[in-house]
Amino acid sequence: MPNHIFGRSTKGTLPTAVSGEGCYLIDSTGKRYLDGSGGAAVSCLGHSNAAVRAALHQQLDQVAFAHTGFFTSAPAEQLADTLVAHAPDGIERVYLVSGGSEAVEASLKLARQYFLEIGQPQRHRVIARRQSYHGNTLGALATGGNEWRRAQFAPMLVETTHISPCYEYRDRADGESLEAYGQRVADELETEIQRLGPDTVMAFVAEPVVGATAGAVPAVPGYLKRIRQICDRHGVLLILDEVMCGMGRTGHLFACSEDGVSPDMITIAKGLGAGYQPIGALLCSGKIYDAIAAGSGFFQHGHTYMGHAMAAAAANAVLGEILNTGLLARVREQGEKLDAALRRTFGQHPHVGDIRGRGLFRGVELVQDRDTKAPFDPSRKIHAKIKAEAFAAGLICYPMGGTIDGQRGDHVLLAPPFIITDDQIDELVSKLSGAIEKALAA
Ligand code: PMP
Repeated sequence: MPNHIFGRSTKGTLPTAVSGEGCYLIDSTGKRYLDGSGGAAVSCLGHSNAAVRAALHQQLDQVAFAHTGFFTSAPAEQLADTLVAHAPDGIERVYLVSGGSEAVEASLKLARQYFLEIGQPQRHRVIARRQSYHGNTLGALATGGNEWRRAQFAPMLVETTHISPCYEYRDRADGESLEAYGQRVADELETEIQRLGPDTVMAFVAEPVVGATAGAVPAVPGYLKRIRQICDRHGVLLILDEVMCGMGRTGHLFACSEDGVSPDMITIAKGLGAGYQPIGALLCSGKIYDAIAAGSGFFQHGHTYMGHAMAAAAANAVLGEILNTGLLARVREQGEKLDAALRRTFGQHPHVGDIRGRGLFRGVELVQDRDTKAPFDPSRKIHAKIKAEAFAAGLICYPMGGTIDGQRGDHVLLAPPFIITDDQIDELVSKLSGAIEKALAA
């Protein structure tokens, strides 16, 4: 049988996923995999949620798709209302797209159009952070700071400047308080805005808890508040990318609520559809929407599948589960248990430098030397070996390699379904431990 799929890699073959049961995926040989990372922080409800399946069947029997150039739909309207009802202050409108990169692209274009509408056409520059991932389409890729992902496409990327991330494990100085550290790195934004010319800067983009490039690195207390103040001082829009950390992953529907910050825009995806449908959204403030409404009345953007009725119906059911069945509290509770289990197993491990995260969004960073925090030589590909060993043992986790400044080391990101049980937490940590030992011994 010829194989025509053009997958992520042209090397080797992958097992075929044939079914899903709660926190497990099952392949065509019957092997079961505990989904310790929800794929890439997607499957927040596990793989066979009855409410979402029923909602999809019901929507399919009504209408699957009606183009948003002609119609709105009940599920899309309901979804926007629910998101706004739970969003941080000032967020009033929802632009539905099909995934995270689309949401980030839309945020950049909306920021630009906003400044045109309010008569500040000189504003077009974007500042982001070196340790970040915002998607793979060209605008989103330009925004992200991950050198490895950007390198090949560098000549095609619009200019974006990148400041330091908030990464206290590595960058906080000896004796520096968490708060002082947070203010110091946030102040890099002030310096960068001044350097570029304050009236040319359009937006600052950041993940409240950094996901793929860092392994669940949260901002320290006060950091995002300081960032908000700096943006306000210079009329710069604050765009928070919650594609990975949002939709309850941290134990709050919006991660930035825990930081007490209201951004001008928020991007979400992944957990919004929980893998049952591809869907993302850009949420924006009333101020931005009103500027468009009072001006051209038309956001110069759009995709064929925006506001797709099936995708919106899935997201409504997902949000119903998250908000009405006590899952946010459960994420906080199980997140503490996962953190405790990780600390019991790896707290004294000579090659585990840091264990961090919020809710069911946790990261473990591996180091060659705990005292100096020196990472492993990248040629050892420790992260790739952990991924392979874990998968062989029936655990899906999300390890990644060095990310910024060429020396950030290997980490494992964990983002299991919100329904994970205590026994499954034990299974996850024990399989991860086995995989790490094998990878280190290889
Ligand atoms: N932003 C963040 C923070 C992400 O983690 C991702 C995906 N890993 C994206 C944007 C891009 O989302 P998508 O893959 O759905 O395009």
